[in-house]
Amino acid sequence: MDIRSQVSMVFHLDKCIGCHTCSIACKNIWTDRKGAEYMWWNNVETKPGTGYPTKWEDQEIYQGGWVKNGDTVSLKGAGKLKGLKNIFHNPHMPVLDDYYEPWTYKYSDLFDAPEGDDQPTARPVSLVTGKPVDVQSGPNWDDDLSGSPDYARNDVNFKDLSGPEQESLFQLERMTFHYLPRICNHCLNPACVGSCPSGALYKRGEDGVVLINQERCRAWRMCVTACPYKKSYYNWNTGKSEKCILCYPRLESGQAPACMHSCVGRIRYLGVMLYDADKIHEVASCDEKDLVDKQMAIYLDPFSEEVIREARKNGIADSTIRAAQQSPVYKFVKKWKIALPLHPEFRTIPNLFYVPPMLPAMASVDSDGIYDSTTKSLWAGIDQYRLPMKYLASLFTAGNEEKIKAVLRKLLAVKIHRRNETVGDLPKEEVEEALAQGNTDPKEADSIFRLTSLATFDERFVIPAAHREESLEMIEATADAKGETGFGFKIRPARGL
Ligand code: SF4
Ligand code: SF4
Repeated sequence: MDIRSQVSMVFHLDKCIGCHTCSIACKNIWTDRKGAEYMWWNNVETKPGTGYPTKWEDQEIYQGGWVKNGDTVSLKGAGKLKGLKNIFHNPHMPVLDDYYEPWTYKYSDLFDAPEGDDQPTARPVSLVTGKPVDVQSGPNWDDDLSGSPDYARNDVNFKDLSGPEQESLFQLERMTFHYLPRICNHCLNPACVGSCPSGALYKRGEDGVVLINQERCRAWRMCVTACPYKKSYYNWNTGKSEKCILCYPRLESGQAPACMHSCVGRIRYLGVMLYDADKIHEVASCDEKDLVDKQMAIYLDPFSEEVIREARKNGIADSTIRAAQQSPVYKFVKKWKIALPLHPEFRTIPNLFYVPPMLPAMASVDSDGIYDSTTKSLWAGIDQYRLPMKYLASLFTAGNEEKIKAVLRKLLAVKIHRRNETVGDLPKEEVEEALAQGNTDPKEADSIFRLTSLATFDERFVIPAAHREESLEMIEATADAKGETGFGFKIRPARGL
């Protein structure tokens, strides 16, 4: 056993209101600089939709992630040989149009325009070239418009849905969508780290945060191709790649990352997970159908005597072990099993888990387009869902519908149990049946309800402050390093180096 600690996250999708506060908080701290205008380390997309950058989930286009190769895995589009062949031209990179051309407005026109009959307007100008642009897309271009033909129809997750199943979703009156906020997953088997020819990417030992050493980065951009979530970006101004740093200067002082701190829907949870690094290879290379279970098994019980002993042997501080015991992520992922990884089939073993959304799915629509959320009592059974199970399975369980259904059954049981507790208008048998089907009991249902709905800040974010003696970065004056290039350069980079 080689126990390590990992800062992990849960996003509860039923609670996300798509307000983008998280994205803006991140943007204002880290990517409001030249060369980083188009970067959204945190972005929120509408699903169904094509996301940011466009169709990032389609690895036939972008060749990201790992593929099973016998008993092991290899990078789909990067790696030594492929990297060497493509070293001066990487054909699988998203281009600026796949993200969007960042723009601002020529506000001075509002003041300087000559007198005339028309109200002056501020024209959009490119933040890259400074020339006027005809704005064609943006990072949240498909917001709330998931049913539009350009976006929802091109969602990669529809590939396994039959024609009629897809069509039924695209009719406006049947349209259904939810939000999917995304940041770097700080994976256990990060394809970005595996692909970098310069060894610039690394995973921090103390908390598992994946970072890019800006001084070592040589702009090969293999990480941009290799990350299947497209969470590594190229800065055209500095000639270096950058990515989400999980606000590590904040984490080190026990504070939640900015996106999480500012989240209006309080959908975000962050905590420590202990895992067995000896099993990474086995998880990454297992059969697709076992991916979710094997990943769940890699995380260990922080209360087990053996785990605590082995963790201490590996130098994990007691404060970190205590944080792992109180971790909300541990509860959602391991104890209650209601949070799942996004696209486990990319085999990077992501550490950001999602509680799948019930709301877009909770009712059926009849042939007259009437939204029907009533059943014999109150809620539709999960089999009458509007959003096909296959779609959610494609997002979170590599296509396994049973796994998604098990999670939704438990979430439904919590709703039914709480309705019974607060209003008391449901037949006893129905409540008992729901709890049995959801494989839960009143005590667990109450705990899920509490952490989902009433959790305090300290319950949502259980972060052990760094031990100053262990953390190299902590001896830097953070305010001095921030500003020029996010967080990384100690010396000013020259373009292209
Ligand atoms: S999400 Fe992408 S950038 Fe982040 S650690 Fe995983 S592979 Fe690397
Ligand atoms: S701030 Fe929270 S609720 Fe708002 S979009 Fe971001 S994740 Fe969703």
